Amino acid sequence: MNGSCIFCKIVDRTIPGDIVYEDDSVLAFNDIHPQAPTHVLVIPKRHLATVNELDDDDAALMGTLVMAARSIAKQRGIDDAGYRLVINCNAEGGQTVFHVHVHLLGGRQLRALG
Ligand code: 5GP
Ligand code: ZN
Repeated sequence: MNGSCIFCKIVDRTIPGDIVYEDDSVLAFNDIHPQAPTHVLVIPKRHLATVNELDDDDAALMGTLVMAARSIAKQRGIDDAGYRLVINCNAEGGQTVFHVHVHLLGGRQLRALG
């Protein structure tokens, strides 16, 4: 728990989140400014600031985030049409919230990255 982290506050219910999935290690909630009809953020409950801070022991946790995102995509019926999973890291990667998260984007044709 990082007291100044907005996503940690969603994990501990200090601030509301539109939660769509939860298990022991993962929380998923709708993005407050959705960029697509489905825009879900999948996060580890444990505070990890950026991908740069991950160590080897976090590999399974990151796999769990991908599997949770995959399940949500399937639940929403966007799995066959397709979707995008994105992790931004630090300023040039476009990261604005410094608690690791996977964006699940889908429900419309997405443009090329860049
Ligand atoms: P980043 O730019 O760090 O990859 O993504 C951060 C995402 O978090 C953005 O898409 C932004 O809209 C979302 N976000 C920021 N603050 C909040 C919040 O308080 N609640 C929710 N649900 N999403 C947030
Ligand atoms: Zn945090």
